[in-house]
Amino acid sequence: MIKKAVFVLLLKLLIVAAAGAADGRVSVEEIIASSGARLQWDAARQKGTLWKGFARVTFRAGRDYAVADSREIIAVSTANGPDGRLTFDAAGAEQILARLLPDDGRQQRRIAAVFIDPGHGGRDPGTIGRHMNGGELMEIQEKDIVLDVSHRVRDLLQVSFPDREIVMSRENDAYLTLEQRTDLANAIETGKNESVLFVSIHANASLNSRATGFEVWYLTPEFRRPDLLDPERIGVSDIEVLSILNTMREEEITIESVLLARSILSGMYAEVGNHSPSRGLKKEAWYVVREARMPSVLVELGFVTNREEARRLSDEHYLQRLAQGIYNGIVQFIAGFEDR
Ligand SMILES: [Zn+2]
Repeated sequence: MIKKAVFVLLLKLLIVAAAGAADGRVSVEEIIASSGARLQWDAARQKGTLWKGFARVTFRAGRDYAVADSREIIAVSTANGPDGRLTFDAAGAEQILARLLPDDGRQQRRIAAVFIDPGHGGRDPGTIGRHMNGGELMEIQEKDIVLDVSHRVRDLLQVSFPDREIVMSRENDAYLTLEQRTDLANAIETGKNESVLFVSIHANASLNSRATGFEVWYLTPEFRRPDLLDPERIGVSDIEVLSILNTMREEEITIESVLLARSILSGMYAEVGNHSPSRGLKKEAWYVVREARMPSVLVELGFVTNREEARRLSDEHYLQRLAQGIYNGIVQFIAGFEDR
């Protein structure tokens, strides 16, 4: 704690020194050197993001404000000189550093709830696998497997996170539309620095009966959601600012979704990788993933159309290991998200 205070003091001295320099401005290189943050600069749009852990500050050349953590507007004037030198005013630079190196008392970001969505249900069985097994017809339905695994993931999460909401879209063989699922997830109340994770669980089918393996999907960055932010809630009415904030919030959600997907995929690989191949991360505009205003992924447990995999997916020990892998991935993501 003391070490951090000394560090922040040193940074302030650096800023004062920089302010006394030729043009009284602080360069982006100085910010990076002091904070260890990374810079993503989009020259075409004259837009940049500095980030460290999950803290990020986005700014545009020629503007007199920047946006911290996609939520808060801070006064920073950004200039991109003819020599390509990107600079901030001294007071603004101090604000940026304060966001990248938050005080110990600052409220940390938190995952308030995990929403688990077993796909299909009721009159919608999802994919169906039929195989001859020892002279008998074995039939497995996606809606049953995904409900089973979802219950297991839910139970594991409830033990680890008694202080958080662990919600399921359906707890039994009920039919829900995709819209009902995302509406349920979007209706979960969260505080200012809180997020919900959306994890939809499915099983796969292929015309190629040899296809096997698990995979995790996330939203493609190309998709633009127009209304991620509630203007009243964040207290911004300027349409342009709102549009910028919305784009940044979406980019942030995309990054978090990729991280969550990667974490779950490696969790599954560690548990069942010696039985079933990892088909990797996939990106597509799945409806449930697109409409949820939160980090969202879709997990495919395996192929019911492959005889061997269908047999595994009928084994409760295997389903428990799949659940354990998904759970491990979620826990690892939450740890990284909250401990920036
Ligand atoms: Zn499905």
